[in-house]
Formats: sequence, structure tokens, C-alpha cells
Amino acid sequence: MILKVRSQKTEYRSQETGKKKKSEVRSQNTDHGPRTTKLLFFPVCVLCSVLFVLFLSGCSKKDQMFKESRILMDTYCTITVVSDSREKAREAIDAGYAEIKKIELLLNYFSETSEIAAINKAAGVRPVRVSDETLEILKKTIDISIATGGAFDPTLAPVIKQWKFSKDNSESSVPSDRAVREGLRLVDYRKITVDTDASKVYLRDRGMELDLGGIAKGYGADKAVEAIRARGIKAALVAIAGDIRGFGVNLSGQGWKVGIQNPRPASGSDRPWEDIFAVLHLKDRAISTSGDYQRFFIINGRRYHHILDPDTGFSAESGLISASVIAPEGYLSDSLSTAVFVMGPERGMKLLETMGLDGILVRADKRVLLTGNLKGKIEILNSEYKLAE
Ligand code: AMP
Ligand code: MG
Repeated sequence: MILKVRSQKTEYRSQETGKKKKSEVRSQNTDHGPRTTKLLFFPVCVLCSVLFVLFLSGCSKKDQMFKESRILMDTYCTITVVSDSREKAREAIDAGYAEIKKIELLLNYFSETSEIAAINKAAGVRPVRVSDETLEILKKTIDISIATGGAFDPTLAPVIKQWKFSKDNSESSVPSDRAVREGLRLVDYRKITVDTDASKVYLRDRGMELDLGGIAKGYGADKAVEAIRARGIKAALVAIAGDIRGFGVNLSGQGWKVGIQNPRPASGSDRPWEDIFAVLHLKDRAISTSGDYQRFFIINGRRYHHILDPDTGFSAESGLISASVIAPEGYLSDSLSTAVFVMGPERGMKLLETMGLDGILVRADKRVLLTGNLKGKIEILNSEYKLAE
């Protein structure tokens, strides 16, 4: 999930009504390897690995859009705030990034010093005292695991680490059935004990490990939004790769316009994250997308990707190639997009409808399924994709 940060470059720009600006940010991302991302400022486009966000230009005379991008959680993050004060905007953006950094330090599976690493090291030995944030996200994670019947399982790490995904396939490999079976013996979210009164977390079996890669970015976006709001900002958008949360309206008085990445971009495309197949408006909501195109390799015509089915330990083959979930909070959209991808179109759709959440699910035949509430609210831009009957 969260790997170590390899480079950081930030930018700080404002958008005044109708002005055109351009800038370039070079970033590295494990999902795509080294890349150059161009940010277009009219309409302002936030480019991230999964979603492409478009802003329209403004109406209020005083308000401006302030935006800064950084590499955190080993991915490309962008925070955009609407404010009438450059100083207030800068403070709010810094506060948002400080929260994301804090969540990264607490939850990073790969860092020796994170609380997740401490819990993993003490598995089967003793409970570990953790911060309020770690306790909170673990309780939420267990609730999601229960709600999804284990399709989302934060204890998958012993299996996840058997898989290697490298961009050029040179180091990609399929683990042996035996290695996967052994890993699976240690996977069971019901063996996580959270003691709220003592603020302690315990994994019952030695060798068990937590990996919050499927929920941490959405939670980071939630915490950033909280911090930005607390500074009196009325509208902002926080994008941590494809996990995006917005509140308020942009300068045009509308919800934030976001695009969903084409899960099957033309082969050879060197900027697949710019290829979007559908757009919608996001208001006071979070959206996350999980897909089999984000980290994958193909061997003998078979696609292996990073979203694993906890029942098999192999890449989920549910008939979906992309699953986007819209929810009031980022931790929900992030974890549920992963879970729905595993559950497939029928079970996934049913879960979302039961939870009163929205989803855009793309089947392998490029038919798009929408939850009832989204009908008429999403625009499909790519004619290869059609709404399912
Ligand atoms: P996402 O890109 O948000 O769908 O999350 C994928 C990441 O979550 C993977 O890179 C793994 O770290 C982790 N993961 C993969 N499969 C699952 C699963 N079934 N339940 C929970 N976490 C998972
Ligand atoms: Mg996710």
C-alpha cells in the first residue's frame, strides 16, 4: 500500500476568474512509474492516477481557487480550496497536508516506525497501545469487513506480500498456490481485537499482519477535509490519487466535476490517467475508484492485479474492471470500492443499494451499472461504454 516517498515537489497557484495558467509537476507513483503530469488551469484539471477532476471558472468576485500538489502516501495528492484570502488558503492547505502526513506516518505498512508496524510485530504476543486515529480507522475497517462479508479484509497482508507488481513486468511474478495457501491461513479480520477503553489493538495469531492500503487514503482525505473546514474554508477538494473528497461548491457554484478513468485506455498510451470515460458532479461527498488496471501484469494472456479476493488469495475475478463508490466519507468510498470490486456486479450493487450509497460499476464487456440515484446524473464521454439495460 503506502510505500516510501521518493520525491516531493509542490506548487502553489491561484485561479482567478477566467485566467489561463499552466504548470508542470514531475512526480513518481508506484502505480504508473515515473511520469510527468501537466496541470491545466482553465478549466483547472487535477490529474490523479484514477480520477481526473475538472473545475469550472468562477462567479464570485472575491473568491479564488488555490491549489497545491504534493507527493504523500507514495502518490500524487492535490488540495484545492476556495477562499477570498491567500493567507487563509495557504494555512488551510498546510493543515490538510499535515493531517495526510500524520495518517501516513501512523498507518504505513512499510515503515518500521508506524503504529501498524508495531501492531504487526506484536501479533500473537501482546496488545499494542495506539493513537485515537489508528483506533478509529481500525474500528471503521472492522465494520466494513463485517458489512462486506469479508470481501474487504485488512489482514490480507501475508498474502499481499507474496505478490509483486512491477511496471515493466520484469519483476512481476505469480506466487505458488502453496505460498498463497499459507498466507491465507493468517487472514481473518475477526481475529483483530480492538480494546477501545485501553486504546489497544491485538492480532491474535503470530504472523498476522494488517495492511490498510485499501482504506488509508480515503481516511487521509477525511482528516484533511476536517482540518481545512476547521479553518473556516467553505469549499475544497482533497484528492489522494483516486480517493477524492469534496465539500461546498466550486467557483461556478456547482459541485466539483470529477471524471472516472477509462479502465481500458488505448494500449501504448503513456498518460492513461488522463483518459476518462465518464464525468459527474460531486457535492459534499467522496468518490473512490478501484480497478484491475491500476497495478497489474499480464502473463500468458491472464491479467493479475492488486485487488485480491480474500477467499482465494488471487486477483479478484468478479466480472468487473472498475468500481467507483460515492459516499459521505472517504474511508467508506475507498474501502467499499475495493470490496465491491471483489464482490462483483450483483452482490456489489445490492450492498451499495442496501447501504444507501452510489456506485458506477464497469463490467468486462464495458457495460456500466449505476445505482438508482445516479441515473441521469452521469455523463458517459466514451462511446465504447454503454449503460447496462
Ligand atoms: P484500492 O486501490 O483502494 O482498491 O486498494 C487496493 C489495496 O488494498 C491493495 O494494494 C492492497 O494493499 C489492499 N487490498 C487488496 N485487496 C484487498 C481486499 N480484498 N481487502 C482489503 N484490502 C485489500
Ligand atoms: Mg480502496
